[in-house]
Parts: sequence; C-alpha cells; structure tokens
Amino acid sequence: MDNWLQKRTQLTPHRLALSFHEQRWTFTELQRQVNGLCAVLQPQLPPTGRIAILGDNTPELYFGMLTLHQLGIPIVCLNKHLTAPELQYQITDAQVQTVLTTQAFLPHLEATATRLHLIALDQLTWEPRTDWTAHSTELDALASVMYTSGTTSRPKGVCQSYRNHWTSALGAELNLPVTEADAWICAVPLYHISGLSILMRSLLYGMPVRLYDHFDSQAITQDLVHGRGTIISVVPYMLKKLLAEKQEPYSSDFSYMLLGGGAIDQATLNQCKRKNIPVIQSYGMTETASQVVALNPAEAQRKLGSVGKPLFPVSLKIANDAQPYQVGEILLKGDNLTPGYLNQPERFAALTTATGWFRTGDLGYIDDEGFLYVKSRLTELIISGGENIYPHEIELVLNQLPGVQASAVIGKPDPTWGAIPVAFLVTNRAWQLTAVQDFLTGKLAKYKFPKELHLVDHLPHTTNGKLKRGELLQWLEKWE
Ligand code: ATP
Ligand code: MG
Repeated sequence: MDNWLQKRTQLTPHRLALSFHEQRWTFTELQRQVNGLCAVLQPQLPPTGRIAILGDNTPELYFGMLTLHQLGIPIVCLNKHLTAPELQYQITDAQVQTVLTTQAFLPHLEATATRLHLIALDQLTWEPRTDWTAHSTELDALASVMYTSGTTSRPKGVCQSYRNHWTSALGAELNLPVTEADAWICAVPLYHISGLSILMRSLLYGMPVRLYDHFDSQAITQDLVHGRGTIISVVPYMLKKLLAEKQEPYSSDFSYMLLGGGAIDQATLNQCKRKNIPVIQSYGMTETASQVVALNPAEAQRKLGSVGKPLFPVSLKIANDAQPYQVGEILLKGDNLTPGYLNQPERFAALTTATGWFRTGDLGYIDDEGFLYVKSRLTELIISGGENIYPHEIELVLNQLPGVQASAVIGKPDPTWGAIPVAFLVTNRAWQLTAVQDFLTGKLAKYKFPKELHLVDHLPHTTNGKLKRGELLQWLEKWE
C-alpha cells in the first residue's frame, strides 16, 4: 500500500489537514513539511535502535510522527508525564536510542541513565520540499509501540501494526461516518491511542485535525460554538469540564463527543442530554488500537449504562459461552487486536485462548439485544462470602455523600468472607463508617456495604486519571 500521507495528499491535496491556534496546513502543505523534515532527519537517525517521541501535542511533534512513518520507522510513544524511573523502564524495554522531542523536555530526558540521541524538533530548521520517496506502508508492519496506562500493573508495550490502525479507523467509520464538514479536535495526547487514532483517521478519511497542546476547555468550547471542530475525543473529566463550560449552543455542524477511557456516571450523561450534547460512549484499550464497542446517541437513553455494540470488524463474546446478562470475562477477536506485547510473548500467549480470543481482563455481560455492559476488571472484582461485588457500583453511590470529592472501594482479604469491601473517601467531613452505612441503606444491598472506612487526602491515579485500586491495597498493608 502507498504511504498513507502521500496517498491522502494525492487524493485531496487542498483539503485542510491540520490546524493549531491560527496556523493551518492543507494536506499538500503538511506533506511538504514532512518531506522537508525527512530530508533533515534521515541523515541524523542511527541505523539501529528504536526511535521514540516525547512531548506536547505540537505541530512539530505531529510532523515528526508522520516523518517517521514516511521513513518506514515505527513510533515508540512515550508519555510526557512519566517519572524518571518509569521513563527509564520504557526506554530500556523498547530499546530506544533516539527521541524526537522539544526543548522543554530535554532536561527530563537527559536525566535518564541511557545515553540517548535527543533531537529537539523545535530547534531544527527545515525547508518545505515538494518531493520525497516515501516508504510504502505494509499492513503487517509495526506502526507504533504504545504502553498501556499501567492501571493494574507495570505498563505493557503494545505493538500496533498498520493493519490494527486501519481496522480501527474502518470500524469507527462504518459505525458513524465522518463527513466533509467534520473536523476532529485532538486535545488527548498523541502518545495515547486516543490521540494517535485521530492522526491515523485524518489520513485515511481526509479529515482535518484541530490540535491542542493542552486541554483548554474555554478555547475548545469556542471552537465547538463556532464550528472549528465538530467531533472531539474526551475522557470523563474532560467531558465534565466541557459540560460546565457550555453556556451557548454549539455550532449546527457539531456532531458528537467520543467518550473513552473509563466509565461515566449517569448524572453526567443526563446533563449532556439536557444540554443537547450527543455523546458516543466507547470501550476499547491500547491492545485494540482504540474503540471496539460504541454506543450511539440514538440508543443512549434506552441502554443506560451500556457501552454499546461491537463495531463491524470486531468479534466479542463473554467467556464460557455465557448466556445473556451472565457476567464473565470479555473476549475479543479481530484485526484491531495487537499482534502482541513487546518482549513478553508468554504474557500475551497467556491472554490468548486456544481458539484465538484475547482475554481483556475486563468483566461484563451482553444483554438480549447484544449490548455490552462493562462491570469491573477481573482483578478488582470483590468476592465476599460467595457474592460478587463490583467496586465501581459502590463508588457511584459513595460519590453522592455530602462533602465527598472522590471515593474508591477495594477488596481486602478476609479469613471469614474471602474478601471484604473497604472504602476510601476524599472528603472535607469527618465521615464515620456507621453514618456511611446508614446513607447506603436502601441504595445498595447490605453485603456490598464497606466494612472499613479510610479518610484520605488523595487517591492514586495513572497519568491519564485512572484509579489505581491495586495501589490502595498496598496502602492498607503499609498501614497495618
Ligand atoms: P493496564 O493494562 O496497564 O493495567 P489500562 O488497562 O488502564 O492499563 P488502557 O489500555 O489505557 O490501559 O485502558 C483500557 C482499559 O480501560 C480497558 O481494558 C477497561 O478496563 C477500561 N475501559 C475502557 N473503556 C471503558 C469503558 N467505557 N467503561 C469501563 N472501562 C473502560
Ligand atoms: Mg489493560
């Protein structure tokens, strides 16, 4: 297959490809930037060792990523929020020797133990060029190495092929086609699948990307009001912020917000409906190169709490041939699915069933109409006296306690019950266990009531805001 940027430029040379603040590039202009950067970078890149990117969502980083693909080099995506030891682990794991970055991140990278070849893209100068012979795109070649969020254990390096990205883009398009009027706001990081999938879709669909180097809810709201962006990918906290920001109607071209990354509470969804914001809830993971299941707005009210139906290229089932509504591990198959983890073939093999299904580690059920409901992660399920307890269900009610900003529930090993639910509250009130239990009475079955309560000033999160429940168990062990 032809290189995707070059093919797109041939097809729609004058269409807008990228905008950032007041700057705009058509596909031809983008192609010329990338050609120019190819000419400057190629002589500087070593023949061995992987090449990573690290930085904010800037046009330079965007050009840099496309340049690597045009040179036939996979992109190792490093998270800009990693601490020095975390960064060191990923650099060693992926055998990174060269990092494309920007000046602001040089000190952080210089602090790692590996002697890296650092290229600050904002210090380079290049001239746009009309010609460059691009590397063709082999669908089964490695396009990117991306680390999982590290919610349950040390992040895994996920190998993503071009076929993975292609299938992901196709599945999304067959579900909700992007039109010529659309422009996708990318305020999620390019080093996550949420951001990289927007870059890939832009090439495949011929769609403009409105890039943000940080989540500026005010500026984004203005874009949505004035039609500079019609689709936006959000995680739950971004959705809540945009909701609070919305005072005037969005442009009539506005299409939807694509919500991913984690579960959302009902109150927020109801507010979206009142404020006339169509939200597509989606379920996916780094291993599947973005969403594999999506709930379209037309079904949102009828299927409250569901993440939707599997997209066209995706096969999905619940382990052990579960009946409708029966909870079990969510299994997936399809060309979105990664060929494996970097350096950990045995770990990936352990997650693959004899018939080739990928075990997601997530628990859920499918209703009688084929809609998926995600309940919890397998490792976070609390089995207490033979009853299954899903921590998130309890947290949703705890969050309604007056003065509570956040809550978390985990299972603590218990000799009598197997495990007991333990709650953590971030609150400015001196809540007592009995008062919390009184509040839960009538809202949750008694076996789900927390048996222990801890008031804390913060909860442990991943850099993208996911609750690390496993770390809370370590807190308990330390306290005892
Ligand atoms: P790690 O694999 O390192 O523990 P992670 O699983 O959080 O981290 P990601 O690939 O970023 O890394 O996240 C995918 C996971 O996020 C899914 O497996 C699922 O547990 C959760 N998730 C994604 N979308 C949803 C959703 N709509 N509802 C509930 N959970 C979701
Ligand atoms: Mg995971």
